Amino acid sequence: MRTFEEFKNDEEFWDAIFYSTRGARRYDKVGTEETTCNYSICAECGGRCCKRCGCHLSPDDFKDLSFDEMLKEFKKGYLTIEVIDGDPFFHHGFPRIVRMRNVDSPVVEERLYARPQSPCVMLGENGCKLEYHNRPAGGRLLVPNKRNNKLHCKSRYNIEECMHEWLYHQKLLAKLADCLRFEEIPTPN
Ligand code: SF4
Ligand code: SF4
Repeated sequence: MRTFEEFKNDEEFWDAIFYSTRGARRYDKVGTEETTCNYSICAECGGRCCKRCGCHLSPDDFKDLSFDEMLKEFKKGYLTIEVIDGDPFFHHGFPRIVRMRNVDSPVVEERLYARPQSPCVMLGENGCKLEYHNRPAGGRLLVPNKRNNKLHCKSRYNIEECMHEWLYHQKLLAKLADCLRFEEIPTPN
């Protein structure tokens, strides 16, 4: 009989438990422009969220998650691989996710607690340059909300959910990070 301590430290066991629950999504990653957008609230706010950092992407935002196709996407300069403070219970201390790149940020962002805030590269004078259906899940599913003159925007696809999805692709992101870490890739115009 294995001790609790042995179970606790068995990464494969916890991965198996976690993967077996993959079908049971804890969130609703569905939204339409009508149900998740309120352009007048966002115009009044002035795009605070997009001025602080790029929104996060789901693996489902990519058509092809092969290494070669992902490398091509990263070389376009609008994406960042980011290390985040992870989920110690699943022994994935500092997993990687993908988000839109910030102005003046590298393509591989590994400053965990000291990264500067700067606007998303896709933020233009009149808001997001991307059509609604082309925006990453993190941006598409951030629902503007204002109560008592205060913003209470709510994410239907938060960073934790994003992290859990990318846990299945950590080897891919690690390989991409190794390839891109020292590359000078300009941001798109
Ligand atoms: S989603 Fe919220 S924080 Fe972002 S621009 Fe709209 S109102 Fe502002
Ligand atoms: S992609 Fe668009 S919605 Fe997402 S952070 Fe950038 S400007 Fe905002």
